[in-house]
Amino acid sequence: MRIAIGQLWQETNAFNPVPTTRADFEAFGVLRGQDLIDQLHDTNEPGGFIQSLRAWPDQPEIVGLVRLPAWPSGPATGQTFTWLREELLAALDKAGPLDGVLLALHGAMCAEGVPDVEGLILEAVRAKIGPIPLVATLDLHASVTPRMARNADALVIYHTAPHIDVFETGVRAAAVLKRILIDGVTPYTALVRVPVVLPAELANTQSPASVSFGLCDHLSKREKQPGILAAGLATVQPWLDIPDHGSAAVVVADRAETARSEAETLAEMLWERRNQYIPLLTPIPLAVEQAARECATGLVVIADSADATTSGSTGDSVHVLEELLKRDWPRPVLVPLVDPSLADLQPGTTWEGSLGGKRLPGKSLYGAWTVERSYQAAFTLSGHLGRNLAIDMGTGVVLRRGPVRVLTTSRPGPHFAPPFFTSAGFDPFTAAVVVAKSPCGFRAAYEGKARLILMARGPGCAPADFVTLPYANIPRPLWPWDQEFTPDLRATIHTSRSLRWSRP
Ligand SMILES: [Zn+2]
Repeated sequence: MRIAIGQLWQETNAFNPVPTTRADFEAFGVLRGQDLIDQLHDTNEPGGFIQSLRAWPDQPEIVGLVRLPAWPSGPATGQTFTWLREELLAALDKAGPLDGVLLALHGAMCAEGVPDVEGLILEAVRAKIGPIPLVATLDLHASVTPRMARNADALVIYHTAPHIDVFETGVRAAAVLKRILIDGVTPYTALVRVPVVLPAELANTQSPASVSFGLCDHLSKREKQPGILAAGLATVQPWLDIPDHGSAAVVVADRAETARSEAETLAEMLWERRNQYIPLLTPIPLAVEQAARECATGLVVIADSADATTSGSTGDSVHVLEELLKRDWPRPVLVPLVDPSLADLQPGTTWEGSLGGKRLPGKSLYGAWTVERSYQAAFTLSGHLGRNLAIDMGTGVVLRRGPVRVLTTSRPGPHFAPPFFTSAGFDPFTAAVVVAKSPCGFRAAYEGKARLILMARGPGCAPADFVTLPYANIPRPLWPWDQEFTPDLRATIHTSRSLRWSRP
């Protein structure tokens, strides 16, 4: 038996003006064929696929297709989309006869003129492979479209935010493939589109106080039921400007009626809880004032979620930095900033110039800084978003003014992760203040360790009050843009070529 695995991963923020290109995928690390298997056998969803497949009683041959990852940013160019599709299809051509395919996708990727990248990719893959099982994984922040559900036999969605189950989602997907391929189960996918878009700040499945905690618990319990292959709730990332924008409940079961009733229940649960997702954020000056009061006894983390690089923002907002510079601090204050133009600054020199507002036009700060050191923002990420995931944000410099350090990088990345700060020479847990460019995922690393976590309200392309942004293509009615309407929470059932692939 031969099973192919591949990955296409990027989350698009429609309001980030920096387009995602082929070079971004190549900088992150494209892997083809056996290299994918050798290098990702313990990393993220592909690692989950590989380790699961290797544990099947009749071990299948694992065929590496291609891994195509890029960090969240603006929409991909049309050319990039064409290249991505051709890479995947060429890899399938090269793969030879297959019995099944596992794909790790994101589900919220857009390209110029292509609002549903993953839907088109799944459609193209399906057309190429014919009636063999195709199981795909998706991020919890996916916008799940009918085209995705139609073309995959099962969609398996992360259960957690922070995303600490990416590897496990790969394991779950491989288990679904096994049910279909080995046990002969016919999968029925029920999709309910839930017309809600929710901020990410309070959607913390690790915190019993969060609305997401109970939903996550419900999902894992339902997935343990014998007839249910996968249960997922995709609370879409808000900064997509597409006709299919919205959340979704997705349940894959061995009977259409089971899938339908489970998905409709989930959809109702989400709809009823929508108000619980609205966060109360602190204006930046107040957040900094509070940090100054509390940092004497420990670390204060200020989440600059509107400029979260994990949400596809540009990572070069200096609104929090400006406020931090107005005070003195007892220990280092660490502020990440994406600015490739500073990579060549020489340590020990003084640099005078503007910080911020170069990628997303906006506020910039002019001034003189000591170039403290140069460093490579390269490390292995484990925790939110990754398991043994190699990250390289390129060359950066540490700019110093008093206790405040600006940690520049050439590329966006996990500008919250402790090993990022370590790569620049700092222990984030002994700092006075760390600015995390992340709405919620950073909590996996800091909750319980930081003295205080503050959610600041600032400008950027990933704000919690996203209704203020100029959306042009979203469907209506859609909550929270529209408040008074009754949604249609009935499921559509998708079952593809299932009956034709039962093996002799
Ligand atoms: Zn996500």
